[in-house]
Amino acid sequence: MCQTRPNPSAHNEMNTRLKVIICGGGIAGFATALLLREDHDVTILESSTLNQELGAAITLSMNASRLLRSSLARAGFDPVKARYVEAEKFQELHWQDLSVLLEWEMEMVTKKYNEPWWYFSRQDVHGELKRAALSMDGLGTTPHLELGAQVERVEIPGNIVHLKDGRTFAGDVIIGADGIRTATGNSVFGEMKSVSQGLSAYRCMIPSERMRKDPDTAMLVDSAKVLMLIGPDRRIVAYPCSSWEFMNFVCIFPDDTERRQQWGTNVTVEEMVEQFEDFHPSVAKFLGMATDTGVWSLRDRNPLSTLVKGTFVLIGDAAHAMGPRQGGCQAIEDAEALRVVLKGATLEDVERRLAVFDELRVERVRTVIEYTREMAPKKTSEQRVNHKTTQTYSDYYWRYKMTQEAVEAMKKHGFALNLINPATGETIIS
Ligand SMILES: Cc1cc2nc3c(=O)[nH]c(=O)nc-3n(C[C@H](O)[C@H](O)[C@H](O)COP(=O)(O)OP(=O)(O)OC[C@H]3O[C@@H](n4cnc5c(N)ncnc54)[C@H](O)[C@@H]3O)c2cc1C
Repeated sequence: MCQTRPNPSAHNEMNTRLKVIICGGGIAGFATALLLREDHDVTILESSTLNQELGAAITLSMNASRLLRSSLARAGFDPVKARYVEAEKFQELHWQDLSVLLEWEMEMVTKKYNEPWWYFSRQDVHGELKRAALSMDGLGTTPHLELGAQVERVEIPGNIVHLKDGRTFAGDVIIGADGIRTATGNSVFGEMKSVSQGLSAYRCMIPSERMRKDPDTAMLVDSAKVLMLIGPDRRIVAYPCSSWEFMNFVCIFPDDTERRQQWGTNVTVEEMVEQFEDFHPSVAKFLGMATDTGVWSLRDRNPLSTLVKGTFVLIGDAAHAMGPRQGGCQAIEDAEALRVVLKGATLEDVERRLAVFDELRVERVRTVIEYTREMAPKKTSEQRVNHKTTQTYSDYYWRYKMTQEAVEAMKKHGFALNLINPATGETIIS
């Protein structure tokens, strides 16, 4: 169970260590466990028995890398162990003749926002968050991970988590981090339906070395770029991950079949290649190098008006399922917001603190969901492509500084702060 080691921040000894139950051990669950373990006793309830991520990749942009390099790094997250690849370039190619339509150096934005843009395989970044969160050498107490623990419902008030197998867990704070089909959220807020975007995405990983050796595909691996091929109603996004071991492909297409009711269903590589057969012939060549693929229905949920009820709080996709681009970044912002608002919490003021989280996060994630919808490929037969969309909302995504926003919100609501600034190591007291 929980192991305690002396806490480096002396002020914590004055505080109540809350018993925090996190339902779901994905990126949101482990990022939060890692950031809360310094001050609170954390248990993670995960339904699967293996708790491994699927074979696909994720880009974590500057609003998230800012936190990975500060709070999460201080807590033990190591991007090298997560085998990051740092983005160098963005390139948009014409889907049929592969001419370069748009190109810019990542430096333009990474310098502006003063943080790197990182690509990871999901397995690597999830694995590293989990390793750091469960490390015996981390800050505070080592969380307890309960695998095979499928949450059925959360009882609020009462603060009891009920598992499908009949077991119960009690906590001072219950966090729902159980993904888009959230059993926790549905039990507390009532059934929250996800909405199909009428699109699905094939995802596959291809060894970079294999692509480098073939003259038809070598141009895809000539630099650490995010490459986009935007057709009228389909798009392919590619980037390297796992210290360049693999190239990750996300191939989005309109999909109205029954399949969109399924999640992560395996399909054939031939089917994926066929879906993009009118793209440039090189596309069939590189997609054909995949040994397997999966398909994901793209679904999101309408923004919620609240993410908190008493001592229950929703985070990650459970709170704000959205199309590809920012979901993982927002989960990391959630984790940092919880770290700040629960710093120094007591049983008496925990609900008021979570209300500050709600105020902070509802508006931010509502706007991100709306922007992500606006940027998604449209189901249209129109041949004209709007090449402007890719950069339009970036500033809103990337400039955001979660730590400062949360500190300001806590001050505004009159909470005394005694917090280490992870970027400078200085203590913020107000
Ligand atoms: C095609 C695609 C591309 C994407 N690209 C990006 C990107 O580039 N950048 C980005 O930031 N985001 C991206 N996203 C979004 C990102 O993947 C998600 O937002 C993120 O993985 C959500 O993490 P999570 O921990 O909230 O949820 P999940 O990853 O769904 O984890 C939920 C966890 O809870 C567990 N669980 C579920 N039900 C229960 C239960 N009842 N009891 C206990 N445990 C339970 C699950 O087993 C799982 O471990 C993309 C998404 C898609 C579909």
